[in-house]
Amino acid sequence: MPTLRAGLRPALVLAGALVAAACAPQLGPGVQGTIDVSNGRPALELTYLGSGGWIMSAGAEQVVAGPLFTNPSFLRTGLMAIEPDTILIDRYMGQHDVSDARVILVGHGHYDHAMDVPRVAQRHAPEARVLANRTTANLYGTWSGLAERMDVTNGHEGTVQRAGRWFTYGPRIRVMPLRSRHAPHFDGLTLYQGTADIPRTSAPRSAGEWLDGETIAFLIDFLDGQGAVEYRIYYQDAVVAAPWGFAPDDLIAEHPVDLAILVPATFDQVDWHPEAFVENLRPHRVLLGHWENFFVPIYEQTKAVMLTDLSHFERRLTRVFDGEWWRPEIGTVFRFPIGG
Ligand SMILES: [Zn+2]
Repeated sequence: MPTLRAGLRPALVLAGALVAAACAPQLGPGVQGTIDVSNGRPALELTYLGSGGWIMSAGAEQVVAGPLFTNPSFLRTGLMAIEPDTILIDRYMGQHDVSDARVILVGHGHYDHAMDVPRVAQRHAPEARVLANRTTANLYGTWSGLAERMDVTNGHEGTVQRAGRWFTYGPRIRVMPLRSRHAPHFDGLTLYQGTADIPRTSAPRSAGEWLDGETIAFLIDFLDGQGAVEYRIYYQDAVVAAPWGFAPDDLIAEHPVDLAILVPATFDQVDWHPEAFVENLRPHRVLLGHWENFFVPIYEQTKAVMLTDLSHFERRLTRVFDGEWWRPEIGTVFRFPIGG
């Protein structure tokens, strides 16, 4: 019988693999490494850091979108204290030079977008300002050392009908916050909802204390020497029901979005995500961010975020969008030609 068992085991493994393959959703072009479509031309370079985290660079000009490296477990976010893992943050952020970054963008105050930012800003991006909503600024309060570096978006958000304020960072970067919302996590329920109205004197201690505040998306322009738009990026760090999160129609008519960074996680909690955003932004290319399971350690990530049918999102995207798009693994670098 030992021989039969020995032969049976690979067969069972194979059968299991076939069943798993048949059941596994067919995912789109997941990628890793370097995707360079610039053909040697000046390029906009993007690096995916995981969760909502990105580095966006044009030459020496750099924008960072709030990363998460700590990845507390699901149990911990529900029941226990959480805090930034500074060793992991330094190990992962330290792989990239963001020492000259001009601004760090945070779309809302949830821990998976805001918790690791103070360490990143203090240790790795000391020149950067932090653009975020008032709740996030109040969560950072007086303990984080960021009070003097905050730019608060409230009252300055653009909508589909009218432009908001451009925040400028050096001669080549401007960023407009866009009024958005935060889609429910599941069954119509949004976790950690609310505002922080006074500056905290100590760090939030649990996931529940990292409140979202007024969620925003961002329009990010890299400008040429004459102040004209060279490259336009749309960035969201939460799914939202359109037309919340839209960019102003007039601005898009002048210069459509070169690259839209869209979030699939929990997209099925709202209608017409991503279709409405493809129509509003008219993007040339699309990247998916915040798609992976961030409840497991960052060095183990392999699976799509819980509760989201990623393949369904990707099918819907391809139905309305015929340009290039990718779903990057953490660490993937993209190089897109500026002006094409
Ligand atoms: Zn959130």
